[in-house]
Amino acid sequence: MITVITFNPSIDTLYKLETFEIGKVQRAGDVKKSAGGKGINVARVLNQLGHSPMCMGFVGGYNGLYIKDEIKKIGLRDEFIKIDGETRVCLNIIDKNKVSTEILESGPIVEENDMIKFERHLENILEETKILVASGSLPKGLPIDYYGLLGEICRIKNIKFILDTSGKYLESAINSHIYMIKPNIDELEALCKCNINNKEDAIKEAYKLLRYNIENICISMGKDGMILVNKDSIYEIKIPNIKIENTVGSGDSSIAGFAYGLLNDYSLKDCLRLSNACGMSNAMNIKTGFIDVNEIEKLFKEIEVLEY
Ligand code: ADP
Repeated sequence: MITVITFNPSIDTLYKLETFEIGKVQRAGDVKKSAGGKGINVARVLNQLGHSPMCMGFVGGYNGLYIKDEIKKIGLRDEFIKIDGETRVCLNIIDKNKVSTEILESGPIVEENDMIKFERHLENILEETKILVASGSLPKGLPIDYYGLLGEICRIKNIKFILDTSGKYLESAINSHIYMIKPNIDELEALCKCNINNKEDAIKEAYKLLRYNIENICISMGKDGMILVNKDSIYEIKIPNIKIENTVGSGDSSIAGFAYGLLNDYSLKDCLRLSNACGMSNAMNIKTGFIDVNEIEKLFKEIEVLEY
């Protein structure tokens, strides 16, 4: 099975406005709420693809109950640990020109006893897990290098660990054993402390990251597709032009596609095709962390994967 960790889930609220003006009273006619956080987006897309993953992390308060309820409604396996404090709310405001403004709360604090409860539960969950996906930031209270610890546990248990995080959380984890990371260009620039202007730059920096214990460095590049570098090859993924609705959650959808392919023993090239098809399908739809499964097969065929 696939287990997806969202340490810091949220209630995602989408406001669609005509125009978004700072300092003015604005009325949102169209409001959509959903259980969110990068991992939950991954889990939702996995579910749409046909695999219902186990979902772990921390939830608290009334917002936490909302998350648990939504997860069950979607048909995902709820393995969240309850903590004190209130699960966060995150806002995404989209205007008529599709310009998106996000406001993200930082979320509740995780105490040491919560962490111990989580680790005990994880031990059992990993008995059934082939692929562990962890996405997003860490909540306050967890050590900054906590993803590194998960990487080591996965190495010992022979579980494929896919990590999609950024900034200090990614930097602190890269010394441990990880099957795949998937920074986007901004996240790669922050990690390598340099500018990335094209695919060649991205490949060069991804190559340098192979000196750590990461098996696959995957860089997602929005409309320019993706590259993946491992010790054997460089893969360049070329995607067709599409009509965009909302790209928030495309990275999460691409992680879901990749993990689904891996679970079902797809070739690496087909994992990359499915990954991009899911990222693109998410971008073509207004809902975050949502793909149209009827589009996937067509998109899959249009994606070109070159190996060097
Ligand atoms: P993130 O959401 O992590 O920033 P990206 O924006 O790179 O990740 O998106 C992940 C994948 O989704 C891309 O590799 C691509 O396949 C697809 N995608 C995202 N934005 C676009 C776009 N504007 N046009 C076509 N595909 C896109």
